[in-house]
Amino acid sequence: MLGLMQSQPLLISSLIEFAARHHSDAQIVSRRVEGDIHRYTYKDLAARARQLANALDGEGLELGERVASIAWNGYRHMEMYFGVSGSGRVLHTINPRLHPEQVAWIVNHAEDRVLCFDMTFLPIVQAIHAKCPTVRRWVALCNADKLPADSGIPGLLSYEAWIGSQSDRYHWPQFDENTASSMCYTSGTTGNPKAALYSHRSSTLHAYAAALPDVMCLSARDSVLPVVPMFHVNAWGIPYSAPLTGCKLVFPGPALDGKSIYELMEAEGVTFAAGVPTVWQMLLGHMKPAGLRFSTLKRTVIGGSACPPAMINAFQDEYGVSVLHAWGMTEMSPLGTLCTLKNKHLELPRDEQMKILQKQGRAIYGVEMKIVDGDGREQPWDGKSYGDLLVRGPWIVDTYYKGSSPLIPDEQGRGWFPTGDVATIDPDGYMQITDRSKDVIKSGGEWISSIDIDNIAMAHPAVAMAACIGMPHPKWDERPIVAVARKPGAELTREELLKFYEGKTAKWQIPDDVVFVDAIPLGATGKMLKTKLREQLKDYKLP
Ligand code: ADP
Repeated sequence: MLGLMQSQPLLISSLIEFAARHHSDAQIVSRRVEGDIHRYTYKDLAARARQLANALDGEGLELGERVASIAWNGYRHMEMYFGVSGSGRVLHTINPRLHPEQVAWIVNHAEDRVLCFDMTFLPIVQAIHAKCPTVRRWVALCNADKLPADSGIPGLLSYEAWIGSQSDRYHWPQFDENTASSMCYTSGTTGNPKAALYSHRSSTLHAYAAALPDVMCLSARDSVLPVVPMFHVNAWGIPYSAPLTGCKLVFPGPALDGKSIYELMEAEGVTFAAGVPTVWQMLLGHMKPAGLRFSTLKRTVIGGSACPPAMINAFQDEYGVSVLHAWGMTEMSPLGTLCTLKNKHLELPRDEQMKILQKQGRAIYGVEMKIVDGDGREQPWDGKSYGDLLVRGPWIVDTYYKGSSPLIPDEQGRGWFPTGDVATIDPDGYMQITDRSKDVIKSGGEWISSIDIDNIAMAHPAVAMAACIGMPHPKWDERPIVAVARKPGAELTREELLKFYEGKTAKWQIPDDVVFVDAIPLGATGKMLKTKLREQLKDYKLP
């Protein structure tokens, strides 16, 4: 027997119409590419998203066709999230930090019809437009007067001219909630980029989940700064969770340096911010020497790569800001786990609590997880046994766009997505990433977590960034070394750092060597690229 409740599809258009009606005057503040600050409300956003939907109809775009963006976090990009998906097209957010060849590859693979870009990225578009025959319309996200006369891009329009003459009335189409809404390619750190194709249902459920108290705890009283880019995994779902809660939104645009972020946070009363560790490192690096304090920031979600415990401590102890350590992936929309304490932990001494908060955290309702050994046998949740982390749930990839299904079936034939991460899970369900499976160091038949070794070095006051990788060893198979970028002006010798490891990890896990580098290579999403580091150090020989 079926239930007798209304069957209403979960559609992205309903999020923006909800915000326009119930939080019509809540603000969206953006630092623009032009450098100035733009300010409007959810009501304005919804009206312009409808204008965009009309412009797409005017282009003759079919439902399901792809509209790409190469853009910073800002209000026009936010309008695309709703105008494109809400009208039944698929928003394809492109990471501008990819190589132009790779950008062209994914534009062609996705068969994008329209591509909208911030003027910062004009050189990318100039480099690729002739190689992207599926794109029929190029749109610069700016006013008509900012459009260069000689861009060389046929039919280039300014976004404002394109949508400006359109009506702000539009009937959002109703369709199956499983219809595709947006897509994002993985950064290709593990081969050719692969696309996750999200649906209205998956994005809406993820938006509900992201707002929960033990997740981002978003409310109409928050002022939210997503530093995490809207061009990679939908800025962790914040563009959808924000209208669902009616929080104020603050977009940093292209200005991601510590000073600009700090000033924006203070000016706009930011209470909650989201970003990858490297961004927060720049922020703290700006604040500490100047003795600056946060006046409104209460909590920050940090994820995308392991958050060094030293950073969690600094936020908490020096600035009174709680850090929520989060883990997820492009293929997971992206949220999987988040770390918050349970009631029974509240009485624990501070350092015991900190040990928990360093983990990647507990699964959000909607994400099932397990760890398995090489033969697929499930490992116990004892906090010690480690295994390949598998997940499943309604916002996790089933099949890659134009690709195959990565799922691994269990005995019941139900598919699990292999994350490529190695993890432990403790009896309370707190998951801790030991490593990415390709970064784990195998030494003498034992595994060394390269993340643990990074984190110890990162706690040294002279270290700006540290990355541990394995080097081939005739006897032990592999041995760890650590590449270190020192803070500007700081002094640190190999011996001093190796001594610093003593007592902090088992002796055999202490790196065999320290290699000082100017900078640790970072990938397109600000993560340390250990693959590239291994390439850079290919001629290195262990002492
Ligand atoms: P890509 O796989 O394209 O590099 P993703 O953004 O999808 O990009 O990366 C997902 C991966 O990032 C995870 O599988 C994991 O290895 C890593 N990751 C994300 N968050 C964390 C975290 N909090 N701690 C450790 N690793 C993390």
